[in-house]
Amino acid sequence: MLTISVALFGCANNAKETELDKFITAHIEKVKPMAKEVGLASWEAANSGKPEDYDKVSELTLNVRRVYSNPQDFAFLKDAKETGQVRNAVLARQLDVLYNSYLESQIEPQLLKKIVDLGTKIEKNFSTFRSTIDGKKVTDNEIKEILKTETDSGKRKQAWLAGKQVGAEVADDIIQLVKLRNEAAKKLGFDNYHTLSLATAEQDVKELDRIFEQLYELTNEPYAKLKTELDRILADNCGVLVTELMPWHYHDPFFQETPMVYDLDLNVYYEDKDVKELATRFYAGIGLPVESILANSDLYEREGKNPHAFCTDIDREGDVRILCNLKNNESWMETILHELGHAVYDKYHDRQVPFLLRRPVHVFTTEAIAMFFGRLSRNPAWMQQMLGLTDRQRAEIERVSSRYAQLKQLIFARWDMVMYNFEKQLYANPGQDLNSLWWRMVEKCQLVKRPQSRNEPDWAAKIHFTIAPCYYHNYMLGELLASQLHNHITGKILKLESDENLSYIGRRELGGFLREKVFEAGAVYHWNEMIKRATGEHLTPKYFVGQFVK
Ligand SMILES: [Zn+2]
Repeated sequence: MLTISVALFGCANNAKETELDKFITAHIEKVKPMAKEVGLASWEAANSGKPEDYDKVSELTLNVRRVYSNPQDFAFLKDAKETGQVRNAVLARQLDVLYNSYLESQIEPQLLKKIVDLGTKIEKNFSTFRSTIDGKKVTDNEIKEILKTETDSGKRKQAWLAGKQVGAEVADDIIQLVKLRNEAAKKLGFDNYHTLSLATAEQDVKELDRIFEQLYELTNEPYAKLKTELDRILADNCGVLVTELMPWHYHDPFFQETPMVYDLDLNVYYEDKDVKELATRFYAGIGLPVESILANSDLYEREGKNPHAFCTDIDREGDVRILCNLKNNESWMETILHELGHAVYDKYHDRQVPFLLRRPVHVFTTEAIAMFFGRLSRNPAWMQQMLGLTDRQRAEIERVSSRYAQLKQLIFARWDMVMYNFEKQLYANPGQDLNSLWWRMVEKCQLVKRPQSRNEPDWAAKIHFTIAPCYYHNYMLGELLASQLHNHITGKILKLESDENLSYIGRRELGGFLREKVFEAGAVYHWNEMIKRATGEHLTPKYFVGQFVK
């Protein structure tokens, strides 16, 4: 049961609260069936791949958006917020959630149309643009393949440069898009689109700055040390000096992934197993059964079906589904554990929590739970017990996996800092010298050298600025929270000295803790309040650092 009193739910004590209560009831009556319809239609489209099914999703989504763009409703909510008369905590939370949903939909229709059209144009440019090497067209996959395997520095350089060509093609449009988004944000009373986005996501720039600054400080030395080791290997592989290493010597266009130098092929351990069965057994063992979720899910490849994976809560009444394209290998083991992490969060909300709050409190908190479970597919103790490995096999995995995990997490953390800081400054002043700004950040955070006299919009080759603006930092916050929960559960719930040998298998206390402290509350508390209630502290990077910096 939820620790907050049921008496808090939905009882109004003054005229304003009564009025709001009525508004909410009418609102839910309207949007609940619409949201379910969108959920079902999206599910249908992802499974069929038919253009007409996707058209239906767009149409239904637009209908929902229309509800939230109503200016009179927004004025009512704004007034309810400003009078300060809504004091009931749960009612006030619903007001916050509603207000934010309306706020982001208040952009004038004409301006919105310009923003959507330009975004679509850029996205289309991204998908149709073909990079060239010596006049010959190359695909993104071919570029990545060269960066992963080629040992000739000249060829690597060509591939890297080819990967950046799209940047020059779209940069002007992206800057224009940023300006349009800023114009919309200013009309709503915000400095720029970045601050508007953070506000509607209940995030505070100062708080995020503090977290990222701390993460930067805490990872500086260990990252530099790990990277020195890595650089030596990369330089050797290409027969160059460490001092000659350039951005194209890393194994992907942005150095956001771990170069495959320490990796061990874990697929062999999974190929004769059934990842669905393993996941089902594991979740049952921690007291979070997933059978009913899997029964509604679609797990295997099919012609036309979305090739990726996602989780969706259709009705907030228990119809939670995941879509996967399972194969028995390590990466799909991680993915099904990950998606089921999202799913149990959705499934195990307390149904007494009001509809508007019956969802994860933040995109990054549900991401954290998904990451928490996804990490297990490479955990030696978990693998040994679930897959019945010998001590020798486990030792072999252990030798590589912890070093790999450190490298992976640190490389990602330093890359995410670039994205967060650059995007913040991009919106604060889109007229500045963005090409130099980008390389200053890359040099500072990733310790990767700017090629001499390079002055191209290399930042613009990252599609996220267009399709998922002001979002990238949430991946990092998810990792931080996953580690904070892991630390708390290890020490305080399971009362262990360290996480060595911890596989979580059969630990029902884990499921109990997550249900009671994270899942059931939904969005009843602000995310940082929820984290404090669950772990005793607000979100902090120190446990991430403790887990991955050895
Ligand atoms: Zn996820």
